[in-house]
Amino acid sequence: MTSGNTLQRVAVFGATGSIGASALDVIARHPRRLQASVLAAGSQVEALLDLCQRHRPRHAVIARGDLFPALRDGLRERGLETEAHAGMGALDDLASGNACDTVVAAIVGAAGLSSTLAAARAGKRLLLANKESLVLAGELMTRAADAAGADIIPIDSEHNAIFQCLRSRQAKDDVRRIVLTASGGPFRGRRRAELEDVTPEQAVAHPKWSMGPKISVDSATLMNKGLELIEAHHLFDLSGERLGVLVHPQSLVHSLVEFVDGSTLAQLGLPDMRTALAVGLGWPDRIDSGVAGLDLLTQGRLDFEAPDTDAFPCLRLACEALEAGGTAPAILNAANEVAVSAFLQGKIRFLSIPALVEDALAALPAAPADSLEMLLEADARARRITETTIAGRAARA
Ligand code: NAD
Ligand code: MG
Repeated sequence: MTSGNTLQRVAVFGATGSIGASALDVIARHPRRLQASVLAAGSQVEALLDLCQRHRPRHAVIARGDLFPALRDGLRERGLETEAHAGMGALDDLASGNACDTVVAAIVGAAGLSSTLAAARAGKRLLLANKESLVLAGELMTRAADAAGADIIPIDSEHNAIFQCLRSRQAKDDVRRIVLTASGGPFRGRRRAELEDVTPEQAVAHPKWSMGPKISVDSATLMNKGLELIEAHHLFDLSGERLGVLVHPQSLVHSLVEFVDGSTLAQLGLPDMRTALAVGLGWPDRIDSGVAGLDLLTQGRLDFEAPDTDAFPCLRLACEALEAGGTAPAILNAANEVAVSAFLQGKIRFLSIPALVEDALAALPAAPADSLEMLLEADARARRITETTIAGRAARA
């Protein structure tokens, strides 16, 4: 169904975001092979209409139900035949129905879980950028994908690199360990005391990658790398002890896999998400992504250093949550989403992000969780606790 000779119909969830734009750029380069059949966004109707005009999908979805009339009327005014849908239920239906073969899961945050899980359960090829869904419910997700025969191709650049390197593995035990690289974010090299007064504008100004605001803040706190360790644990079925992190400021080596024979394989490339998306959209073929090759002579050098978990405690908190298992990663993720949103709105300081996550993990001890309901309940409780703490601090200030 996804070979080069047949048209692959792709649903892009989070089409108006940074990953969505990169996915649509690659899709548009291969009109005989790839077609954007469903485009979905959270609340940006105008941006979604512009994308519909350009890519002519069969279906467009706006997650916020009250925006349905704006989407429907906008499509009509532009003379487009695209069918309008609204609400999270419509996302699930389109992810699992016959309007697509492949789903690019690029909604930000736990809001992406339901549609990502629906795509996995329906056996779709799943191009997974939405790492939060794996952090929240990784076991359920991988089990659902296995049961339905859904291929998960990670789009996160590190995991996409590992996915490529693992093609030379015969058995699971061939791998000794996996090392995720991290750029270190905009505050690399600063001590904790130097992070007191950093602003949202400084935090989202990532030195190497152009990304949405939430993941940019996660990169600045190093929570992004923590979420990625949990993501790697689920995708590659390795325990925390066999997963490492190395700071690599040039962001050219996207991750490394060490094998039992002492070989280390790495994937290198310019920091542009279209490469990872092209790997997923073309797999197992290699297709043009629009990204230039890497000229190491021009780049000059590759540096590596250990992460500083004193200045950036989110990485340590994520390792602890991975170790604790059960509901702990869901609590970590939910508290972090609420804290990052409050930071972006100027309600809390940068260093309050790890403090709030730590408070939520302490208030809600990890419990075993083998159902989606239990995980969603842990997610909801962590959100409530974190929101209450933030409101209490604001009232005292
Ligand atoms: P972004 O903020 O640029 O875009 C987010 C998209 O999600 C938008 O289209 C928005 O409309 C949609 N959205 C938001 N809330 C929604 C909701 N409740 N329901 C439906 N849609 C909703 O984010 P991004 O940088 O593109 O990141 C998307 C995901 O990909 C995140 O999980 C992120 O961690 C992951 N990721 C991104 C990058 C990157 O380079 N940007 C790299 C690796 C992983
Ligand atoms: Mg990444």
